[in-house]
Amino acid sequence: MTDTLPQIRIFDTTLRDGEQSPGASMTHREKLEIAGLLEEMGVDVIEAGFPAASQGDFEAVSEIARQSKSAIICGLARSSESDIARAGAAVRLAARPRIHTFISTSPVHMKHKLKMGPNAVLEAVGRSVGQARNLVDDVEWSAEDATRTEFDFLCKTIDAAITAGATTINVPDTVGYSHPQEYGALIRALIEAIPDSDKVTWSTHCHNDLGLAVANSLAGVSNGARQVECTINGLGERAGNAALEEVVMAMRVRPDTLAYRTGIDTTGLHRASQMVSRVTGFPIQFNKAIVGKNAFAHESGIHQDGMLKNTQTYEIMRPEDVGVSDSNLVMGKHSGRHAFRDKLASLGYELDPDALNDAFRRFKALADAKKQVFDDDLVAIVDEQLSAEGERILLKRLHIVAGTDGPQTASIEVEIDGASHTAEASGNGPVDAVFKAIRAVAPHDGKLDLYQVHTVTGGTDAQADVSVRLNGEGIMAVGRSHDVDTLVASAQAYIHALNKLEARRRKRMAA
Ligand SMILES: [Zn+2]
Repeated sequence: MTDTLPQIRIFDTTLRDGEQSPGASMTHREKLEIAGLLEEMGVDVIEAGFPAASQGDFEAVSEIARQSKSAIICGLARSSESDIARAGAAVRLAARPRIHTFISTSPVHMKHKLKMGPNAVLEAVGRSVGQARNLVDDVEWSAEDATRTEFDFLCKTIDAAITAGATTINVPDTVGYSHPQEYGALIRALIEAIPDSDKVTWSTHCHNDLGLAVANSLAGVSNGARQVECTINGLGERAGNAALEEVVMAMRVRPDTLAYRTGIDTTGLHRASQMVSRVTGFPIQFNKAIVGKNAFAHESGIHQDGMLKNTQTYEIMRPEDVGVSDSNLVMGKHSGRHAFRDKLASLGYELDPDALNDAFRRFKALADAKKQVFDDDLVAIVDEQLSAEGERILLKRLHIVAGTDGPQTASIEVEIDGASHTAEASGNGPVDAVFKAIRAVAPHDGKLDLYQVHTVTGGTDAQADVSVRLNGEGIMAVGRSHDVDTLVASAQAYIHALNKLEARRRKRMAA
């Protein structure tokens, strides 16, 4: 029934706007992994990065473009000639390449950021879009800070962009300042005022500074926008962007009030959310809509009683609709390799034989330590394994003495480029001792910025989920690990972060 509804394009910018949020930078591999999952989920447009920003960004966008099959792969560019040339070169190999170029149009941005007058900005719009159109057929143009731009001037710039060949016009609420009725009215007024408005796709890009990003995006859709820019978990600058999972589910659950559909396979939402959280080290708020740990938990007796009688009493969508499996309890130590492989496949993982063996070994070790292994445990094992491949420093052994009689001590053995190294350290508590031992065995100047512990599932034998963020002169790296032993997970997370930090430094030096 909903198949006949008009489709809204989902434009994901987790890899560009999301990656720009402080502390959320991702490695090349992680970007490819996320892009692969987004494409599999049916995301229409993937904004893969900002190719002119760095060599690393350029390479990530190029590789995502090369591996893409059906999604439009988009590279961001400012209005300068070199930016646009760079974006064009990066997306060149995509099956469906797009250049997304932008310039600020609000008085405050033009004056203080660009130091350009309105005429110069108008001229830059036509020139930049024209240059992009010479490289690709699909060009998106954004009026940065559109919601604080004078309406007549905004119309002029959009007109210039359409005349120069833009095919999508994006109206960003860059500073997250709009209210829904106001943003919706702006989209409607623009579509009415601009002569060729029916020749382009209108797009929303809303920030969440007032918690209104999703509401504003949906108001845009109600008023004629046909593309929504958003990110997994609402990742993005400051308070973030519109959350993809919320935008998609709001349309799916309520086609009676918002009669549109998206092409997203919603059963991938939970996994995408977990993956982005793991890669960035940004935890998902427990009560986050759609993907939070508690989004489908019914605690109060009255609610539980209602749920047992009929799930529709309190549930407007089913957990399985967003990829939270119903039979979460899965496997134990007697489960075989075959069942394990099938289970991983049902969770969306196809591993090559070596990786599968490795994962199976880790699963067995976990099943020995912990009675029941849940889906989330398996996802944690495999995701960590995938992100740790090719690391220089590996944890081999850790021994800790802790308790009421200090000092607490840690002795550690690691392998660095294949050679074994050991160290011992004492500290204020076992975590401090572990981190000091790592510093002794692999000296570095990265500062510990964040240390955070959660549990993957419930129970005292649950795996600890530890995130560590290191900051090395402005380069941030997040490591995350899981283990039934909190201290082992802490050491692993620290080492993952250190590996990433060093890899990023080498890359920067090479550039
Ligand atoms: Zn943005």
